[in-house]
Amino acid sequence: MTAIPSRLIPLISDIVGSDNLTSRIEDLHCYSYDGTARPHLPGLIVFPRNAEQISKIMKLASTHRIPVVPRGAGTGMTGGIVPVAGGIVMALTKLDAIVEIDTDNQIGIVEPGVITGEFQAAVRKKGLFYPVDPASLKYCSIGGNAAECAGGPSAVKYGVTKDYIIGLEVVLANGDIITTGARTEKSVTGYDLTRLFVGSEGTLGIITKLIVRLLPIPPHKQTFLLTSTSLRRTTQMVSEILNHNIQPCTLEYMDKTAIDAVSSFMENPPPETAQALLIVEIDGEKANVTKQAAKFISLVSDRSEFTLREATTQVEVEQIWQARRAISPSVLKLRPHKIGEDVAVPRSRIPELVEYTEKLSEELGLMILTFGHAGDGNIHVNIMLDRSNGAEVERAEEAKERLFRQAISLGGTLSGEHGIGLSKKPFMRYELNEATLELMKKIKTMFDPNHILNPGKIFPA
Ligand SMILES: Cc1cc2nc3c(=O)[nH]c(=O)nc-3n(C[C@H](O)[C@H](O)[C@H](O)COP(=O)(O)OP(=O)(O)OC[C@H]3O[C@@H](n4cnc5c(N)ncnc54)[C@H](O)[C@@H]3O)c2cc1C
Repeated sequence: MTAIPSRLIPLISDIVGSDNLTSRIEDLHCYSYDGTARPHLPGLIVFPRNAEQISKIMKLASTHRIPVVPRGAGTGMTGGIVPVAGGIVMALTKLDAIVEIDTDNQIGIVEPGVITGEFQAAVRKKGLFYPVDPASLKYCSIGGNAAECAGGPSAVKYGVTKDYIIGLEVVLANGDIITTGARTEKSVTGYDLTRLFVGSEGTLGIITKLIVRLLPIPPHKQTFLLTSTSLRRTTQMVSEILNHNIQPCTLEYMDKTAIDAVSSFMENPPPETAQALLIVEIDGEKANVTKQAAKFISLVSDRSEFTLREATTQVEVEQIWQARRAISPSVLKLRPHKIGEDVAVPRSRIPELVEYTEKLSEELGLMILTFGHAGDGNIHVNIMLDRSNGAEVERAEEAKERLFRQAISLGGTLSGEHGIGLSKKPFMRYELNEATLELMKKIKTMFDPNHILNPGKIFPA
């Protein structure tokens, strides 16, 4: 653990103002954890207001080799903001301006602390659409989304965060302020550093401004709930829908346990016999939506194992989404703790992945549920457990390890959207060979030679 020399505190206070830093123990505890609940205390929390203040702090941190952990809203699921080496938490909540919404060119310029859902609402007021919609959108920050390359249900049609960020302002470990990309749709001036920073989990630089692409609001949307008495037929249906030239903007899946955990949120929940369900939404121009919806209805209508219901009111649509977004917190009423993983596989392999989790559940005597963004093969696997039961913890860790191996053997990846952080770094070698990891480490060292930016993350020991 790196202690912060006491003579640095007044220097940092001069930079940000005495109201914008704290080392009170109760504050340190609040900034010691994220969704993974494995806390580590920082030495100091600072709340800078702009890139210049961050630059000055980074110069001090660099000179004195003090670890700095950038922090957005703290909703991460992999321990990305946990200050494992102590040092400074750089809380970016006060960089919270929507600087510009340029309707002529359909771009937004935004500071990292802006809450994603609030940004979506602001651009919508101007007739524009920012599609990236993580289930945490009411709480997470757009800077955290960029650092994790967050995705959401709409990724099946609209892609993920990296598809919308066209430029960045970033403060480097040595305090230099750089810009990447441009406010144009196209720019090939030099290397694509924007893509390198997106998904870099706060290890290469601190994002202080983002230029994002916006789209026109799709004028029409239809929402369907497809319930099924067969888990296998449901997971197979994902590829079938997409192979029938239907392009949904949502193709979300829940297994029976996930349904049971959230059905109380719906006035009209799926029947007891439902083994799985898909939420299917189609958006766009009305004529096209009607045509695609008709194709979808005819695809499922003569299959006895499926029941299709269309949400006919906005209230019904909202209830479906409230239920979907509540899965992550609601499952904790089933068991006190969970290991939540977000592996992704090619979508034709989803049935095999889900069947494998059923096998793990049976063999290891664990409750395991699956749900998530089936349209892009990103299945959330929640291994439920009670951490006070040592034997169960061991079995759950075994289940996680076997899940990763299986996902990779199916042509998949450790993480579709939550990132590596602390939780998945021991497993990086399952997916990447030594040469690839070495190249990544060299990039890290070039950007951050003293390894002060978010140390201890991503790379296996
Ligand atoms: C209930 C729930 C549902 C979720 N659903 C989804 C989902 O559907 N899709 C999805 O992708 N994720 C989801 N997540 C995970 C999480 O919300 C995302 O990873 C989100 O992008 C994190 O944003 P944040 O602002 O909370 O970042 P934090 O947790 O504060 O930080 C995450 C990482 O980003 C780095 N970071 C933050 N800000 C910056 C910055 N400005 N510059 C450089 N690095 C920075 C941090 O160092 C850390 O490594 C969910 C989480 C919860 C709790």
